[in-house]
Amino acid sequence: MLFKLKILFISMIIFGITYLSYNIYDYWNFNHNPIDINLEMAISKKRDELINRTLEFYGIYLPVPIKIENIPNRLYGITTLSKNGSITIILNKKIFKESFNYIIESVLPHEFAHAIMFHRGKINGDGHSNEWREICIQLRGKKCDQYVNIEDIIIEKL
Ligand SMILES: [Zn+2]
Repeated sequence: MLFKLKILFISMIIFGITYLSYNIYDYWNFNHNPIDINLEMAISKKRDELINRTLEFYGIYLPVPIKIENIPNRLYGITTLSKNGSITIILNKKIFKESFNYIIESVLPHEFAHAIMFHRGKINGDGHSNEWREICIQLRGKKCDQYVNIEDIIIEKL
């Protein structure tokens, strides 16, 4: 009986270590390797869709570059406007894996709507206005919530 318990106990420890190692490996892999090709393709596809929709509804061709980087907080993404007027969307690599669909369906249209606002010259920091919300909905964003409590736009001081 005692022997059986020992075997069970040891098996559980081995399983635990294996499971943990796999997770650490997986996490390490994700942080040190380029983004999975499937994820990259899904982003690229969504980006094309947003560019087309912007052209169709607003008559603006806005090929905003989308970068995937580590953002040092829990933001899903940010839209930046540089001094020279160029607009970039940055998606947070850190929280990418756990919420991929959310990023594609909600975050990308949300950030793209900020990009259109920048393009329209709305750079007063009024991030989630009615105008922004209408654009976000037009872009078929799944979450065009105006009451986002964290600011997710960065405007370089002109
Ligand atoms: Zn926002």
